[in-house]
Formats: sequence, C-alpha cells, structure tokens
Amino acid sequence: MHVVPLPALADNYIWLLHDDNGDAIVVDPGEAAPVETALRARQLKLCAILLTHHHNDHIGGAEALRKTYDVPIYAPDDARIAIATHRLQDGDTVVLTQPFARFQVMAVPGHTLSHIVYAGAGVLLCGDTLFSLGCGRLFEGTPAQMLSSLQRIASLPGDLLVCCGHEYTAANGRFAQSVEPDNLALQQRVDEVARLRAQHQPSVPAPLSSELACNPFLRVDSESVIDWCNRHGAANDPVARFAALRSAKDAFRA
Ligand code: ZN
Ligand code: FE
Repeated sequence: MHVVPLPALADNYIWLLHDDNGDAIVVDPGEAAPVETALRARQLKLCAILLTHHHNDHIGGAEALRKTYDVPIYAPDDARIAIATHRLQDGDTVVLTQPFARFQVMAVPGHTLSHIVYAGAGVLLCGDTLFSLGCGRLFEGTPAQMLSSLQRIASLPGDLLVCCGHEYTAANGRFAQSVEPDNLALQQRVDEVARLRAQHQPSVPAPLSSELACNPFLRVDSESVIDWCNRHGAANDPVARFAALRSAKDAFRA
C-alpha cells in the first residue's frame, strides 16, 4: 500500500492510501479539494473514507466527496458524524477488498470520547490521539482515559507507520526535549524533523517504534520522564505523570 499525506487546512494531513491498481482510501478528509486534486493527479479511484473523530478539520470534506464518489464512510458511533454509513465499535474489523486492506478498530477516548484509531495495512491511522512526539489535547476525556488509550496503541506492532492528523512534530519535539534533554533517539528524530521541514517535507509517517523511543507521552514509565515529573511535583503514579506532562505541554511556549 502506498501511504501519502495530503496537506490540508492550516496544518492537517489527510491520509491517502492506495494500491498499485489505483484503488484508494482517504482518511479524515477535513476538506475535499486536496483529495480531488490528488485522485485526479494520480489517476486513482476513491473506494472508501475512514474517519477517526467528529472534529470538522477531520470530516469537513466527507460530504462533498460522497456526493461525487458515493463511497462507504466508516466512522465512530457518534451522532455528531451524520455522514457515516458504517459505524464502528472497539474490536471491530474493517475489511476492504478494493484496495485490499484489513483494519483493526480501537476505541481511544481522550481527545474526544468517541475517537477511534485504525491499525492495519502497515499503518496506524490515529487522528488526533497520537501525534509524532506528542498527543492530542484532552477536549472530552480524562488523563486516565487518554493514557490507557495511548498504552493500548503502544502495544501494537512497532513497525506500523504512525499516520497522525497534524504536522505538529517540530513544536512537539521542543517540548519533548525539555522533558528528556538526554534522550539520544529523540535528539536524532528532532534533527531529522528539522531537515524534513526545512525541505517542506512532511515529518510523518514515522514508525510506532520510534515514537516509543522518543515520545514522552508514551514514556511515562521511563526513568527520565519520572525524574522530570518528580521535579514538577507530580504524584508518583502513571496517570498523574501523564496529566502533568499534558498540562505542561498545554502551557509550553518555546
Ligand atoms: Zn481533533
Ligand atoms: Fe484535528
């Protein structure tokens, strides 16, 4: 499967997945135009739309695309996504024949309560739950919910490519380095991101294994993150550490 991030809106990525026959899936089309342009330029046929959560920057283009292409729209079971044709629960599997793909669906409450991720075909389609070097803001869920969602994601195969909803990696990296200044893998990833962004290239996807080594929100049990939390007055349990990281990130400016 070819995996292509389509820049959209201010800093979103719409993910375009397609096979060598030209059959395509799009994920979180916040607007229709970049998808239509890419389908035309690459001579692809849109076969399905996958949505991770109800925010408009992830679903705003789905209605216009469905008018043109009349494809199934997979989404969380949430009335705020009126356009859905297939509603998914934790543990469901999405099987597509064209392009051939099989995705395991996981409920990941935190950024929103009904957020889901899709894992399969070599990718993790994770919307605004996991970002490269960061995680989504807690608009609806609790720190305990988000941490448990991220921990479930962390147990997936490390070679899955993390396809997240936004280009936030450089800013996330500055916060991550303030937490773990001595993390060499993080230093290397930050350098790589700087190189890519200087060339106007997307910083994602990156393998989940790299996130496990570099992303502080997946590392609340690591010694260096525990040290940082101790110095920042967080109680010594994983949820408190996660909550302290998340609120420090919310306040972080650098
Ligand atoms: Zn969102
Ligand atoms: Fe978003």
